[in-house]
Amino acid sequence: MAEFTDPLSECEREDFSKESYLHSFVDFAVERILFEQNKYMALDVESAIDADRFENVIGKKHEVFYRYGYKYTTFELAIMHYQGCIEKMEDWIAKNITPDEFEALDVATQYTNYLEDNYYDVIDCIKNEVVYLLFQNREFLMHFNIFMSDVLLGKSDRKNVPLWVKRAVKYRDRCKCVMCQKDLSGIMDIEEQYENQYDHIVPLEDGGLNDVSNMQLMCSKCNKEKGINIYTNNIYHFYYDN
Ligand SMILES: [Zn+2]
Repeated sequence: MAEFTDPLSECEREDFSKESYLHSFVDFAVERILFEQNKYMALDVESAIDADRFENVIGKKHEVFYRYGYKYTTFELAIMHYQGCIEKMEDWIAKNITPDEFEALDVATQYTNYLEDNYYDVIDCIKNEVVYLLFQNREFLMHFNIFMSDVLLGKSDRKNVPLWVKRAVKYRDRCKCVMCQKDLSGIMDIEEQYENQYDHIVPLEDGGLNDVSNMQLMCSKCNKEKGINIYTNNIYHFYYDN
């Protein structure tokens, strides 16, 4: 986690960036998980190739992968899932790495470099999916924002809530106060004028962020009652009446 938090603790706070703090966190986590999985897989395959010597393996790379239960690396699987196809590691090695070069090179790293462009596109796809899911879960967002308010030094000033944030929060919370469930759709018709209904889950006074992940819908009465307390709930609205 320090790899994620240390650089942030030295940065100025950003207000309502579309690349939200939740995006940054998920980006970090997804890349980390893919990297770790790929590293162990690459270590297995490399040690197998090492043991057999390159010339004995070059025609049998499928066997090496299968022996370890891998048909594809984690990167390849992710890229294939999102982009359809890819030049597989074994084919790429056969085409691009000569036997002389082989022992001197970290083959997995070379291949990873080749994948890099696709790789970052794929990370973006996974990140957007994960953010989409996590954004629905206000309780998670509360814990995340408590964590972030400790990581980032200082406090954020009150800022106007951008329209795109209002819309995202309004649609997620189905136009209802998260505390009392009051239907705010009458008021929200003129949403651009109203700031009061957009509440910081972790209040600014508590170090909370101006971030889409830290916002929720609340009626004026509940907002007053909440004051500077940290509160949310995880009530999910049904799409239809029971
Ligand atoms: Zn309310």
